[in-house]
Amino acid sequence: MSNTQFIRDDSSSHIGVDIGGTNTRIGLFSSLDTPNFLNIARFPTYQIYEEQLHHIIEAVRTSNVQCFVGIGVSAAARIAKDGRSINVAPNLPDYIDKPFAEDLVEALDSPVRLAHDTVCGLLAEKQFGILRRYDRCAYVTVSTGTGAAIHLGKASTSLISSIEIGHQILDGNSLRCLCGQVGCLETFTGGRQIELRYGRPIANITDKAFWELFSHKLAIGLVNLAQLTRIDAVALSGAIVLHNQFLLPMLQEEVNATLKGSTLELKTAKLGEDAPIVGAATLFGLPEDRILH
Ligand SMILES: [Zn+2]
Repeated sequence: MSNTQFIRDDSSSHIGVDIGGTNTRIGLFSSLDTPNFLNIARFPTYQIYEEQLHHIIEAVRTSNVQCFVGIGVSAAARIAKDGRSINVAPNLPDYIDKPFAEDLVEALDSPVRLAHDTVCGLLAEKQFGILRRYDRCAYVTVSTGTGAAIHLGKASTSLISSIEIGHQILDGNSLRCLCGQVGCLETFTGGRQIELRYGRPIANITDKAFWELFSHKLAIGLVNLAQLTRIDAVALSGAIVLHNQFLLPMLQEEVNATLKGSTLELKTAKLGEDAPIVGAATLFGLPEDRILH
């Protein structure tokens, strides 16, 4: 059976869209039981909202997918509380307050769900990755910025929330963050802020003292997260963690030395760059009111 026939015949398909700061990917999931999908499209993320909308709609319309349950969208941006639009997006300012979900519903005649990329990353790792056996856990991405989402569950119920881990304030830190606050964790861990301060990309920094400081500050942020939410495990993702494998053992050692009264297991996220698109599709496996955007 060809892919095309397979797609046309499958009415339990879902579409996942991952809108990153740089690229957008669209995939077809024939089932939500596995993280496998077919690539439908990949294009540079358009800064102009109308252009981005047009390209998503055209990609879905021309993909031969005639029957699907819904479209899940992961965005590198914060989603309004009702889950229908984007309301904070330093990298995509033109998208703010546009009726994104309704525009897609109208054009593609399909249910649409939106979520922050950290929420989608968490959902993917919870369903198929390293967080499967944890009821209380987090997904933390350490990249251009530092973002996170938490999952707090018990038995058959759970709540998932996007949180601003990068903008927690560390005592004694007088550096001004790009968000406007003084003292944020992200002044030490955000790739963009590091590049602005050091005048070179973090990928070019090999200085041991730099990485010790980086690890120390991020470990404090993770310990605070564990104390505030009583989570048991964190899946770490994002380019900085994935490209510097020495970081995770350093962080775990710091966390173990600092955190008292509980333990926090740090793990490398398993799904890599596919986590947001996989999580976007799996939004349809979860009632909307389980997610606090
Ligand atoms: Zn900040």
